[in-house]
Amino acid sequence: MIQRKVILIVLDGVGDRANRELDNKTPLQYAHTPNLDSIAKRSLVGLMDPIAPGIRAGSDTSHLNLLGYDPYKVYTGRGPFEAAGLDMELRPGDIAFRCNFSTVNEKLEVIDRRAGRIKKGTQELVKALDGMEIEDVKIFVKEGVEHRAALVLRGPGLSPYVSDVDPHAKGVRIHDAKALKPEAEKTARILNEFVHRSYEILKEHPVNKERESQGLLPANILLPRGAGMAPHMEDFEKKHGMKGACVVGTPLIRGICRMAGMDTIDFPGATGSYNTDMRGKFEHAVKALDTHDFVLVNIKAPDIAGHDMLPHKKVEVIERIDDAVGHLMEILPENVVVVITADHSTPCTMGDHSGDPVPILIYSDDARREGTEFNEIACAKGSLRIRGEDLMNVILNVTNRAEKFGA
Ligand SMILES: [Zn+2]
Repeated sequence: MIQRKVILIVLDGVGDRANRELDNKTPLQYAHTPNLDSIAKRSLVGLMDPIAPGIRAGSDTSHLNLLGYDPYKVYTGRGPFEAAGLDMELRPGDIAFRCNFSTVNEKLEVIDRRAGRIKKGTQELVKALDGMEIEDVKIFVKEGVEHRAALVLRGPGLSPYVSDVDPHAKGVRIHDAKALKPEAEKTARILNEFVHRSYEILKEHPVNKERESQGLLPANILLPRGAGMAPHMEDFEKKHGMKGACVVGTPLIRGICRMAGMDTIDFPGATGSYNTDMRGKFEHAVKALDTHDFVLVNIKAPDIAGHDMLPHKKVEVIERIDDAVGHLMEILPENVVVVITADHSTPCTMGDHSGDPVPILIYSDDARREGTEFNEIACAKGSLRIRGEDLMNVILNVTNRAEKFGA
């Protein structure tokens, strides 16, 4: 019995609802998808609740669940996964935050949460903050894309239960981090001290003096949000017996894979934006199968269209995905299972994630041929009706890797 390899393709937020602008079809139903439909005809199909029926999954909690990690156990906030996605070293117990470089006035009122979408210089600003110590806590900072950054606190007695410093609005004063549980007093105190020190240091920094002289907004404070504690996560290969890799553009999902011990495959076109190189992602995934058993590919674009509430844009994105999937099937080696699904629905009518189930197809050369088309309605007629936590078991079965239960 040949143990197969597998590509898991997560079309981020591709699930949707009936949309008036699309003749009351979903974007997947409305889009012209000959390749996806052709694969569906040779696949097991069905619907999946990424967490559980009606639960509105985040991309992070859903990906954890799909990869076999219980989000209710390992997830306290997205900070650690964002930090890991920026290649920061994290140890279990570290508290991590996502941050923005922002612009505030001397009353600490927010003028711009994104510091004029600063493009250059954050690396130097980070250097002025990274390695700081407050009490017995060591502080690490790393820059992300544009105004984004991540912050890690390492030391005894820290807690993830602190509120955001970022007020998520302009014209208002930054918030003081508050302890949401008594054991978080120390963390809140250190975080507030760090934010004030970041302002004192950054407002005088040469990069900001230069920006101001050019009429640009200074990146004069770092505003943390999304606190979470770095969990211990069992190594993906030990857990599932498959060596795993990912081709993922968004730092959040990349960080989840890194913390699971999977290899991350990066190339310039692997972004988390509309114009990501979809064909390139599949080409890199196929190449990774030479050395790995399991490759996760995430395509973020449909989720962005859902958040932007642009149904026709989502249709266009889906048709580009269909073209790339056609290319994938041409270059797919033998004995590879292809799973295509989503991490959640992001209906264009809602502009956010919903708790609606997502379509799933599982292609292998001996799959029961259940499908007709790849969309929410056609897939509902298939045999699969699973939760995200079932996915790895289903994959282990179709790849002929599952342990027998009993004799
Ligand atoms: Zn998502």
